[in-house]
Amino acid sequence: TKKLVMIPGPTPVVRSIQEQMGRETAAFGDPDFVRDFTSLLDDLKSLWKTTGEVFVVAGTGTLGMEMAVANSLRAGDRALVVSHGYFGDRFSELCSRRGIEVDVLASEWGRIVPLEQIERALASKNYQAITVTHVDTSTGVCAPVAEIGQLLRRFPDTLYIVDGVCATAAEPEYVDDMGIDILLTGSQKAFGVPPGLAILWAGPKALARRASLGTIPDYYIDFDKWLPIMHEPAKYFATPAVNLVWALKEAVRLIKEEGLENRYARHRRTARAMQAALEALGFRVLAEADHRAVTLSNLIYPSGADDAAFRRLLAEEGVMVAGGLAAYAGRMFRLGHMGNIDAHDLVATLAAIERAAVRSGIPVELGAGLAVLQRELVRAA
Ligand code: PMP
Repeated sequence: TKKLVMIPGPTPVVRSIQEQMGRETAAFGDPDFVRDFTSLLDDLKSLWKTTGEVFVVAGTGTLGMEMAVANSLRAGDRALVVSHGYFGDRFSELCSRRGIEVDVLASEWGRIVPLEQIERALASKNYQAITVTHVDTSTGVCAPVAEIGQLLRRFPDTLYIVDGVCATAAEPEYVDDMGIDILLTGSQKAFGVPPGLAILWAGPKALARRASLGTIPDYYIDFDKWLPIMHEPAKYFATPAVNLVWALKEAVRLIKEEGLENRYARHRRTARAMQAALEALGFRVLAEADHRAVTLSNLIYPSGADDAAFRRLLAEEGVMVAGGLAAYAGRMFRLGHMGNIDAHDLVATLAAIERAAVRSGIPVELGAGLAVLQRELVRAA
């Protein structure tokens, strides 16, 4: 059976992007590659609307998180970590290891930290940065990134770091307008590129902060090391992931062809249709209705379901999903529905979920979810 990769990243890679990965690798100084890289960087800046800089470096989302922190904070600084789950918490460890003092505002899984609580914390101490995970992949919660940015206008000394790993290219993000100082993401989720690239936007305030830090202990992730390369990719600092850069360029070409706003709208429609269909089958979405991600759904099983059996049978039916994390291990599965997927993928995925549910003893009515999904797809056409 063909395997559909419907975990929340990596996501299915369409043929034209695969082809870029299969190209003969060029020298990074090859004028054609330099031109491709330069135009990719220009597109990333203009599509995500920043007057600042963009960095594309080999690494994963976690490297992007580390790069954001290393270039904004030093030991002894104070950071406010807003956590809606496992990946929010990751910032806390990442900062404390660097001797940064961390205060964590954590929500109950599935809910957001209320804005008033963030506001109170910001008013209580001087924070050099705040971290917010746009979509926490462990809970499927989407943070109110624009509203937090609005709030931060009253706290100009606090840098706004947003983890867009499970959001960028699917959830609306306008870097300057939302007051985001650093947005970081990875290639393997809503861009639909294989894993291996970290992408990071840094606005003027973030660049000024970097300058104020002087020489930092980090080498590979230092903005100052990469800036000359991002301005002139023919120069050398560390070898760019040539084929991944081409793959990302193709992903961005597809995004421009679709229209970024249309892509946001498509993700919203798709997510709401899948979520309604899965609820009709008796699964419960963990994230509260007003703060649900469009990139993935975290689905709590009806009581008595056997997670291991369900996911094993689902894999047999040709669809890979992810398990629940922490307290939700065994009680939940996580379904990605982002990037360059289409109605065929959605219908095939939901149909396989119905078959695996029945085969593993979860009492669903075959076709009940599909009926909802099909209606939504027709309505959206
Ligand atoms: N942040 C979020 C929200 C994520 O979902 C992930 C990956 N699942 C990461 C950070 C870490 O990214 P990576 O696994 O690419 O290092």
